[in-house]
Amino acid sequence: MEKTDILIVGSGCSGLYAALNLPENRKITIISKSDLESNDSFLAQGGICMLKNDDDYDSYFEDTMKAGHYENDKKSVEIMIRSSQDVIRDLVDYGVAFARDENGQFLFTREGAHSHHRILFHEDITGKEITRHLLAAAKAKPNITLYEYTTLLDIVEKDNVCYGGLVQKQNSHLEIIQADTTILATGGVGGLFQHSTNYRHLTGDGLAIALRHHIQLKNIDYIQIHPTTFYDPDETKRSFLISESVRGEGAKLYGKDMQRFVYELLPRDVLSKAIYKKMEADHTKHVWEDLKPIPKDELESHFPNILKHCEEKGYDPEEECIPIVPAQHYFMGGIDVNYESKTSMENLYAVGETACNGVHGKNRLASNSLLESLVFAKRAAADIIENGAVLPDGDSFENLVQALPLNYYVNTKQVEKNYHQLVKKAIQAQRDARDDQDAHENFAFNRF
Ligand SMILES: Cc1cc2nc3c(=O)[nH]c(=O)nc-3n(C[C@H](O)[C@H](O)[C@H](O)COP(=O)(O)OP(=O)(O)OC[C@H]3O[C@@H](n4cnc5c(N)ncnc54)[C@H](O)[C@@H]3O)c2cc1C
Repeated sequence: MEKTDILIVGSGCSGLYAALNLPENRKITIISKSDLESNDSFLAQGGICMLKNDDDYDSYFEDTMKAGHYENDKKSVEIMIRSSQDVIRDLVDYGVAFARDENGQFLFTREGAHSHHRILFHEDITGKEITRHLLAAAKAKPNITLYEYTTLLDIVEKDNVCYGGLVQKQNSHLEIIQADTTILATGGVGGLFQHSTNYRHLTGDGLAIALRHHIQLKNIDYIQIHPTTFYDPDETKRSFLISESVRGEGAKLYGKDMQRFVYELLPRDVLSKAIYKKMEADHTKHVWEDLKPIPKDELESHFPNILKHCEEKGYDPEEECIPIVPAQHYFMGGIDVNYESKTSMENLYAVGETACNGVHGKNRLASNSLLESLVFAKRAAADIIENGAVLPDGDSFENLVQALPLNYYVNTKQVEKNYHQLVKKAIQAQRDARDDQDAHENFAFNRF
């Protein structure tokens, strides 16, 4: 058994940033199901939004609300936008190099449903640039211990208070990590879907554990489909994203007659549906994206990794169109949290994609998720510092551990399978309960 002050489950941007915002006199343990770099934060291509100046506030707020079908929590949106400059300052201090012009001023790109250019980027690997710096900073802190290939199987809980977690370590042994506070930063649910841009091991484990312990969830059927991923006939692979900023910079979409059929900068859900309809009408498995309208030097300097991927797949985007298809991409719903990222259970927080603070409403605006993850991870850390953990009198931790049905967890493969079923059933049930034609259509296209 190990004892820590704060257990953080997940080494993506949200988990790392929460850790970095906690004081150095607290012992912090970060665990990751896979290696430390294999998470969606490293995959983010397009960028991260920032409030450029006060003049852009209303427009940025409205774009976020409109993309979210006005189901967003307005206060969460305001917190995110107002905190963006502070977070970006932190990132720059950690060494993150956003694109700048010759005078050293930030360059901003644009993506679908944004009225203005307000997205900071680093080539087409913004997430990697941000998260590798956060990871390096976390590794350098003497109070932070990182364990890779260590999977949270369950939390230790009694009477709606969390006392840490039961984990499977890299050597397959089960171990208890006792913690005053636990933060779930377990990412999205893409691994449950046939086609997804997410890492396959991101299967909503935080949600499964929340379901087991009756922790409040919200909008778990709000799942975003990204309109443009590279079509690969090998359907077992993770879908490679063709960033929305490619369309923001001028790329066009064509049906099989090589004619435009849609305005390319519609919100993601609306555009995905238009593409599916076109594929149905054309009897094809993909539509075409034309990157040639983007000036050559812009294409090569801004999107080198997308070009490289297409070339590896036998396409030269500077000369020909590439095949694209929508795929599951992002999870707007999640573990219900307050503005300080606290769940309905004492001593338990949730941050990043697994949490739902209402920022995204029904559909996320492009490049809001890295920002939302970071803003609300920092707020979780601030709340932990301010309020500490609740430590009720009662059973000793040893007694709680004794009461755990350890036999249930020994067959971890079966536990994982059960968790996947639990989450899929809950998503399906919420979708069925909601009288929402959009959501039903979305699901018809995107199967588990
Ligand atoms: C291809 C792609 C492109 C994207 N582009 C952008 C973009 O341009 N801009 C933007 O804002 N957003 C973008 N996003 C979304 C954004 O990257 C994610 O929403 C964000 O990074 C989520 O961060 P996170 O910390 O919540 O989760 P992640 O970074 O996914 O990390 C999850 C962590 O949880 C760990 N974990 C999961 N289950 C367990 C368990 N049971 N036990 C232990 N550890 C566990 C994983 O190993 C991992 O370390 C993109 C996403 C993808 C997939």
